[in-house]
Amino acid sequence: MIVGVLALQGDVREHISALSDCGVGALEVRTLSELESVQALVIPGGESTTISKLARAFDLFDGIQQRIKAGMPVFGSCAGLILLADRVLDAIVGQESFGGLNVTARRNAFGRQVDSFESDIEFKGITGPKFRAIFIRAPWIEECSEGVEVLAQIDNHPVAVRSGNLLATSFHPELTRDNRIHRYFVETICNNALRVGV
Ligand code: GLN
Repeated sequence: MIVGVLALQGDVREHISALSDCGVGALEVRTLSELESVQALVIPGGESTTISKLARAFDLFDGIQQRIKAGMPVFGSCAGLILLADRVLDAIVGQESFGGLNVTARRNAFGRQVDSFESDIEFKGITGPKFRAIFIRAPWIEECSEGVEVLAQIDNHPVAVRSGNLLATSFHPELTRDNRIHRYFVETICNNALRVGV
């Protein structure tokens, strides 16, 4: 299986390395043909406004949206969560998301860059010690619709969710050496999707 990492802006290298550690092929995706050659996609942390504009400029926006609708497994971290959310609060005027995840995300919900923090959290679906989660100008999920499973929360705000083949975290698992969340994505979501032929 090859998992792509949308490589327009953001912490692409870190995701590539976490995915490689999980034993799957990892490919940077910048073109439609690269998108067509992957079975799953990671949308990295970075700046959601920039990534969505570049996805339009690189002619990838509609292709990604269609693949999401068709059931491609996608993991979005931080800016990636915002880009998967159907509704975004505190967005800039005209900001677009790929959507697919039936949640309302609030950008920069925990504050500005100086309010970035780390926290040990429980993450439903992974075993072992709590997960060290790194939050950088992170969003939270303000409202979750039916069918969206909350996997982790901070102060009653969901910060990790799954819906079907979509996984999203407000924090950056790619910035730690702990690959359990990437492994969860590969083993629980991607492998299952491959088995049923998405
Ligand atoms: N605040 C950023 C945005 O709105 C996300 C920050 C991040 O990915 N670390 O896109």
